[in-house]
Amino acid sequence: MQSVFKELEDWNAELRAQFPIITASPELAYLDSAATAQKPRAVLDAVRTYLTTANANAGRGSYPWANRTTALVAQARERVAAFLGDPAPDRSAVHFVSGASEGLRTVARDWLTEHLTAGDEIIVPFADHQANAQPWLEAQRLLAAQGVRVTVREMPYQASSHDYDPARLAELVGERTAFVAATHVHHVYGGDLNVHRIRQAVGPSVPICLDAAQSVGHLPVDVGTLDVDFVVFSGHKAMALPGIGAIWARNTRGPEFAPGGWAGTPNTSGIVSLVAALDWLDAAAPARIERWTVALAARLTDGLRRLPGYELLGCQLSLAVDSPVQQRHGIVSFRRHGTSANDLGFVLSTHGFLVRADSHCQARAGEQEDSVRVSLHVYNTPEEIDRLLGVLDAL
Ligand code: PMP
Repeated sequence: MQSVFKELEDWNAELRAQFPIITASPELAYLDSAATAQKPRAVLDAVRTYLTTANANAGRGSYPWANRTTALVAQARERVAAFLGDPAPDRSAVHFVSGASEGLRTVARDWLTEHLTAGDEIIVPFADHQANAQPWLEAQRLLAAQGVRVTVREMPYQASSHDYDPARLAELVGERTAFVAATHVHHVYGGDLNVHRIRQAVGPSVPICLDAAQSVGHLPVDVGTLDVDFVVFSGHKAMALPGIGAIWARNTRGPEFAPGGWAGTPNTSGIVSLVAALDWLDAAAPARIERWTVALAARLTDGLRRLPGYELLGCQLSLAVDSPVQQRHGIVSFRRHGTSANDLGFVLSTHGFLVRADSHCQARAGEQEDSVRVSLHVYNTPEEIDRLLGVLDAL
């Protein structure tokens, strides 16, 4: 691990210096990137330049600013497809939404309800984020109101790691399995939920929708190798502004995805910020960001395991990126015996550590106890982790 930090030290320092909010507050350690990521200067500049030189509505005027905005939105669709490794980036495959929550809901309302027939079964990951559970239940309700009964089954998990259980999933899949919702990286446990094994377990013909909210911007997300049908993510977690996100649709298993209704004015400045963020991330190299944040998470989990009184949640760490064992990405959640997560989060904030401390919007709220979540990005450093461990040790 030490070698990753040595090897990428200069790269990291150069990138970290590009985040004005980080450099303005050196006494703080921002450890809540799973909630939202900070923005590099390139993103802030791109939005400012757009708003001060070409702001107009898209698809409506015929003067230069409007034409430029229309072209920019169309090109942004291709940019998202290319960023996701689409071998034939096609603008019709990408649809802009306000974020992952709206994206998953849109797939549920505008595609799944068109796709299912009475007696079909769908598989839903209820121990993941509620944004990846509620929309599928809503689709079930909408269909029931039309007299179409579909069954929702629960994605099986391995209790020890919170990873999906591909063997039990394979048993659950039957002739009527018509759709699977899955998550790429868990927002509390940090585990890579291993989409390849999901595809193997469900077979080649069942559509899979991937919630990539915690993976886009953190690691390579490549639809050329991930055999999924939808990828949904939030721009704000990938260093763009809040209020923009995207759905990528493969459109080969089932009806063509076409969001319904009048979409209205697109979030043009959000789209500008997203393109700038994806350009920035590509230049920084998602594979390097992954190595850096995985190494930081390993430093934290190794340290936490040595501290008495702390319980580490989630997967067992495996550092080989292509290991069959589940890999922890840059999210680490833990509890301290005898201290509520809320109190621990507050104490950490008084020491300058900005973490999240609650039940983290899990779909089965209430089932899990609260925890403190540390979520990492490229602007975090091993020194921050060491300081955090020092404070946790001294409590
Ligand atoms: N899915 C996952 C895995 C998430 O972590 C989040 C945000 N915490 C969402 C979906 C929802 O994202 P948003 O709030 O940007 O819509």
